[in-house]
Amino acid sequence: MNVEGIINQAKAREVQICKKCILPTTFRDIEFNEEGVCSYCTTNKSVGKERDITNEYKTKCAMEIDEIIESVRGKGLYDCAVGFSGGKDSSYLLWLLKEKYKLNILAITFDHGFMPKVTTENINKVPTKLGIDVVNFKLNTGFMERFFKYKFENYQTKAVFDSMCADCSNILEGSVMKIATFFNIPLVFIGLSPEQVNRYFYEVPYDHINANWMKEEYFDEAYFERRDKSYIWSAKTDAEKNLKVILPFHVWDYNEEVVVNKLKELDLISAEKSNPLKTRCKILDAMCYIDKARLGYDGFIAPFSDLIRFGNAPREKYYNLFFGKDFELNMDHVNEVIKTLKLDVEIIINK
Ligand SMILES: [Zn+2]
Repeated sequence: MNVEGIINQAKAREVQICKKCILPTTFRDIEFNEEGVCSYCTTNKSVGKERDITNEYKTKCAMEIDEIIESVRGKGLYDCAVGFSGGKDSSYLLWLLKEKYKLNILAITFDHGFMPKVTTENINKVPTKLGIDVVNFKLNTGFMERFFKYKFENYQTKAVFDSMCADCSNILEGSVMKIATFFNIPLVFIGLSPEQVNRYFYEVPYDHINANWMKEEYFDEAYFERRDKSYIWSAKTDAEKNLKVILPFHVWDYNEEVVVNKLKELDLISAEKSNPLKTRCKILDAMCYIDKARLGYDGFIAPFSDLIRFGNAPREKYYNLFFGKDFELNMDHVNEVIKTLKLDVEIIINK
């Protein structure tokens, strides 16, 4: 099926889109009122975040981040590491930490083998322009391919997206954390926007850093090899156990347009190249294809619906991107994923 086919199939499902945000009727745990407004909007609920956080609490946490920063400053070759994806948010974070906080930063990128060209260009350009050292960690043993194949063929959630992204993030963030401790760096920043961080508030809790992130599925010998388990985070040394991992955009002011405009103004990333639908990984394109065919929407929309609902991103822009005139799907990416992972898309769509 091509893009047209996918759009037609999605249309045939007669999916209704919320008039205030962009969530569809096929989204998980959703209801619509007579005015066509979804229950997330009528109850002011966020899809990502569980709790409502007051401004006072945010200010207090932001002060805590300042204290943590001062406690690490100047102690080693690098003050902090930043998980750098090549997307707009982590690019903006690099700039903020370098220019506003004057930190010595090591940017760490994790290449799972399915990054689009535009993202790789950003990865090459942004730290070079900012004068920030980079470590690029790329897995070539086939573990990520085995992981993605497992997820596509065994998802049990409504959207494939809901099963894939959190676990992939754990592998990615765990790898960044391992590399940071290898360089004796005590502090790691992850540049996800607040709506993308639904698993914890601004700091990854000590208990979670000290937990073993292994999942039972990695023992499935039909997919995984014995050695694959070593890629999963499990804190062993004191440095690993005491590592601080901060997601600062939960408590710092975050506005999507400010981020896009600042990157443009600094000539770090053009607005075109900060479009999250263009910088997202090819796996996401393939998931979007499958979710759009099955449910009539792209599983990637949840964080954007939150941004729109709470006034931090324009609705029209994302409506057009996900459902309207700007919707496009990179079929080269989709086909590459299907081919590389040897997926039977018909079986996955009709599961
Ligand atoms: Zn809504």
